Amino acid sequence: MHQETLALHFGYDKQSFGAMSVPVYQTTAYDFGSAETAANRFALKELGPIYTRLNNPTTDVLESRIAAVENGGAAIATASGQAAIFYAVANLAEVGDNIIVAKKVYGGSTSLLTHTLKRFGIEARVFESDEADDLEALVDEKTKAIFFESLSNPQIAIPNIEKIVAVAQKYNIISICDNTVATPILFQPFAHGIDVSVHSASKYINGQGSAIGGLVVEAKGLNAKLIGNPRYPQFNEPDESYHGLVYADLPFPIFSLRIRLSLIRDIGATISPYNAWLLIQGLETLSLRVKEHSRNAYKIAKFLASHPKVKKVSYPGLESDALHIRAKQYFKEAQTSGLLSFEVEDFEFAKHILNSTKLFSVVVNIGDSKSIITHPASTTHQQLSHEELELAGVKEGLIRLSIGLENADDLIEDLSKALG
Ligand SMILES: *Cc1c(COP(=O)(O)O)cnc(C)c1O
Repeated sequence: MHQETLALHFGYDKQSFGAMSVPVYQTTAYDFGSAETAANRFALKELGPIYTRLNNPTTDVLESRIAAVENGGAAIATASGQAAIFYAVANLAEVGDNIIVAKKVYGGSTSLLTHTLKRFGIEARVFESDEADDLEALVDEKTKAIFFESLSNPQIAIPNIEKIVAVAQKYNIISICDNTVATPILFQPFAHGIDVSVHSASKYINGQGSAIGGLVVEAKGLNAKLIGNPRYPQFNEPDESYHGLVYADLPFPIFSLRIRLSLIRDIGATISPYNAWLLIQGLETLSLRVKEHSRNAYKIAKFLASHPKVKKVSYPGLESDALHIRAKQYFKEAQTSGLLSFEVEDFEFAKHILNSTKLFSVVVNIGDSKSIITHPASTTHQQLSHEELELAGVKEGLIRLSIGLENADDLIEDLSKALG
């Protein structure tokens, strides 16, 4: 079946009342009915709800549906995108290990992976993801994951995914791709040999800026890469915290199962059933929205590229963009979402544009149905000096747009007036 159909129907059986909308199971716990059922659920002899920190019927629908839409083997929903990234990495690496992280990733990922995880004894080695020529040299026997974004936020870069996947395969290391910006509609990570995909579902999957949530999706057949792999003893040796359970012996997708049974159980950054429901609503229309966001952004990128006061536009979907070849290679119909950036003369003019637009909200978010404008130099990168901004590739006149679903002509008129 196709993505559009799966996004509307997969994983939900209408049950007794025939409710068309997936019910919200706003409950903490579940009546097992008998001591035997309770014991069987805990012993994994029978899968079923135990306690909402671990699983919930509404969240189950979201999890199986995203796995189907992305053509993965199983998924786990989490409290936020940050929690999803943490779980995916913590499922693989522990004290004394290292992970290799792309240079161009979300700021929150950089701080989590390079600073916070360091305090837990996990070292992050950063590679130049545009070409990934330096990646292989960073690998050693303690390397447990390679992390990158299919379309990076906020840099709007597309890495050399082929090369990253080739290195991960050569050394039997799990590759993790943050697919938040591209979404499974534009980029299918598992078709490119990636092992695990993570999402901030707070962005395009939700689509209306109304809930925080995250997702971890594993590739079909990932068990084969984990079972017997000396890099990952945690899947092959008895887990003391689960009375000697050996994940490799179980007939389930064990990457996700271990996140649920050990990390979500203990750390507890679980999504609420209501937020899971909001993300199901978003998933239903994701395909239509992402295509429309891309169409709108393309028109706006074209307008900006021809404007005399705009020095540079970054939008890989645009034929003239340096990354257009990669967009064509990896992305559906070379569409690259609603994210674009452009550069004007200086700091003051950039601020003037932010203050003059009427339809764009000054917000640090992306993927909302409403258009958003941000000026990194005066917000997210405010603490950096002029030289540091240059190094980070953030020009003082750089403006980032998350193009929404308004009529593109209205957005163009608004930007045109602001540019003067
Ligand atoms: C927003 C974002 C995150 C973090 O997700 P939250 O849901 O805000 O925790 C991670 N990666 C990317 C690419 C993002 O845009």
